[in-house]
Amino acid sequence: MRLKATLLASLAFIFSCTASHAQGTPTGQPITVSVDMTDAPRKLLHAHLTIPVQPGEVTLLYPKWIPGEHEPSGPIENLAGLVITANGQTLTWVRDSINMCAFHVQVPAGVTVLDVHDDFLATAAATGFSAGASTSDNLGMISWNEVMLYPQGKVAADIPVTASVTLPAGWQYGTALTPTSHTATTTNFATVSLEQLIDSPVLSGRYFKEIALAPEVTPKHYLDMAAAGPEDLELRPETVTAFNNLVREAGALYASRHYTSYHFLVTLSDQVAHFGLEHHQSSDDRVREKTFLQPDLLLLEGDLLPHEFTHSWNGKYRRPAGLLSPDYQTPMKDDLLWVYEGLTEYLGGVLATRSGIWTQEQYHEELADVAAMMDQRPGRTWRNLQDTATAAQTLYVSSNQWDNWRRSVDFYPEGELIWLDVDTTIRQLSQGKRSIDDFCARFHGLGGNTAPMVVPYTFDDVVSNLNAVQPYDWASFLHARLDDKLPNAPMGGIEHGGYKLIYLDRPNQMTQASESLNGANAWYSLGLLVDPKGKVRDVRVGSVADKAGFGPGMKIVAVNGRAYTADILHDAIRDTKSSTTPMQMIVENTGYFRVVNLNYQGGERYPALERVSSTPDLLDEILTPRTQPTK
Ligand SMILES: [Zn+2]
Repeated sequence: MRLKATLLASLAFIFSCTASHAQGTPTGQPITVSVDMTDAPRKLLHAHLTIPVQPGEVTLLYPKWIPGEHEPSGPIENLAGLVITANGQTLTWVRDSINMCAFHVQVPAGVTVLDVHDDFLATAAATGFSAGASTSDNLGMISWNEVMLYPQGKVAADIPVTASVTLPAGWQYGTALTPTSHTATTTNFATVSLEQLIDSPVLSGRYFKEIALAPEVTPKHYLDMAAAGPEDLELRPETVTAFNNLVREAGALYASRHYTSYHFLVTLSDQVAHFGLEHHQSSDDRVREKTFLQPDLLLLEGDLLPHEFTHSWNGKYRRPAGLLSPDYQTPMKDDLLWVYEGLTEYLGGVLATRSGIWTQEQYHEELADVAAMMDQRPGRTWRNLQDTATAAQTLYVSSNQWDNWRRSVDFYPEGELIWLDVDTTIRQLSQGKRSIDDFCARFHGLGGNTAPMVVPYTFDDVVSNLNAVQPYDWASFLHARLDDKLPNAPMGGIEHGGYKLIYLDRPNQMTQASESLNGANAWYSLGLLVDPKGKVRDVRVGSVADKAGFGPGMKIVAVNGRAYTADILHDAIRDTKSSTTPMQMIVENTGYFRVVNLNYQGGERYPALERVSSTPDLLDEILTPRTQPTK
């Protein structure tokens, strides 16, 4: 309870209504922003802002450090058409020569409000995060940071903003913002802080559907979907049941809710970037068009909504102190992302299974894939896990090639293994009386149900809360897994859970689903990932393929004399067990061809979990639903 007394009183940044924002603008009047989405199908968003000011030099800022993206990813390069006027006169603006997200304006005497017009060019490719492709002919997402400017020197939580949006005729929308009035195409929203506005995107589209989830639960939860076509919105009843259960299971796990309502904003489109971005009262979840209809796609994305929903507690409500950037210009410190993202990765998978989105077997498959990937990660020899979190802002934007040598944002998958280790260790030490659920109820349920607010934490807060649940030397436990350059992945959670990692000669269901989208997976046999056209996506350092001279980007033209297909590659790998001659491939690299021999006799190899019958099945306990599923 020490945390509650100190943190809630002194450190919490509270989203609140305009009454407390009088100091945020000179007159206490809110900034207004109106976004016109009628050109969204042409990849143009138009914005008009009014910004209360005082005469003299004013610096307007554009959000640079984007919450949840953990990096300075504000898409300033796509801000266009910036014109600032006051009392009908156009004012000159000058961009800061150091900070590309700052504009200096001399405000004439007598002027109290700036009129600002800007456009956002929604032309980015369908990659990356919220700045990636966000519109199509029939849908569009408004991430308010893409059009907002605000005066320097204020904290976003103290700047009131009144927003409105105009949509193409016939489009509907979903958002955590509260509508106050509307015309046929324009909706006005209640005034919120700039912090809450940027945390509350608006998903809109022609083919739109809202489903109220777990209607017996308060606050209310909604699945808001904008899709490429109307058929994409017809979810199977069992899918809706699983999402209903997700709302209930999260409530049971966290023993609290920190929002007034929650909206899953799901874009179902092949035209937009695919990712998930958490918000306090909503999440921006962008997946392939048929994700809710095709079992393979839903399997691969099964933990996306649970992951982003978990962030409402772990990431939004409880947030590493170093990740606060109250003005979107203060750099973020990513060193605790192994909690923010790693624990979320663990709990997201657990919730997906407790909810019935995944079966227990599918969870085992995902866990085996994660454990094997981290276990055969040559970059472990030069870089510890902590460094992947500390350097996260460089890793999110790095390419996937030679990723196993670089190490990427490994604090997600390896964080999952570490937090499973924490959970099973608590269960063992307490003889099954306590678990990580007790930690979540304490750490994320702090203060009970609250409005959206941020309660920051440090490494020591994590350790003290773990100790309150189960006394142990958690600091040493965590430091050993974060700071040491361990040659192998931390397998304690899987072993305490009653399983061990093995390799089989056949892929599991999850790997098959992934192969049907991404191409052949020969990672644990030859050391290759190959796209559907035969292009090498990556090579595992130290593998047979590495020693044979393969590199990412090379194209496999033929396998044992036959034109490349994934099936021919798999057949050839399988036959290595009985063949007496090396596998032979013809490979093209930047216009040059050569023949490569691979000395390999191991056959196909895919990770799997095998039950160790002499130990209790703790994984089974962890994955058991805590609420009674309701149809
Ligand atoms: Zn996340």
